[in-house]
Amino acid sequence: MINSHPTAAELYQIVRKRLPKISLGTVYRNLELLTQNRTIRKLEIGGSEARFDGVIKPHHHIRCIACGVISDLFDVPQDVVPQQYLSLGDYDVRGYRIEFYGLCPLCKSKQATEEINNT
Ligand SMILES: [Zn+2]
Ligand SMILES: [Zn+2]
Repeated sequence: MINSHPTAAELYQIVRKRLPKISLGTVYRNLELLTQNRTIRKLEIGGSEARFDGVIKPHHHIRCIACGVISDLFDVPQDVVPQQYLSLGDYDVRGYRIEFYGLCPLCKSKQATEEINNT
């Protein structure tokens, strides 16, 4: 399934339609380069396969627990964890990840219809 946060394998399927001879390794290498250049962002969400994001503006993500789609959240501030908590413990804290999850609008309405049908 293609969304705005595709995996390398999904991007490979798209690129291959235009460049049939391209290898998955080339796609991976280019994605790493674009990530280093900060042209795209690499997302590691919930231990799943890395996804790539063309939106560089800082934002959080929410994952649908039913269909797995990942959407952008622009209204949540980036520094939700106060600075004081980043110097606790023996670690040199470099960052943190916040993962929101729930039901996307599509799955929410699907579930609502199912509930009506079941009663
Ligand atoms: Zn969903
Ligand atoms: Zn995003």
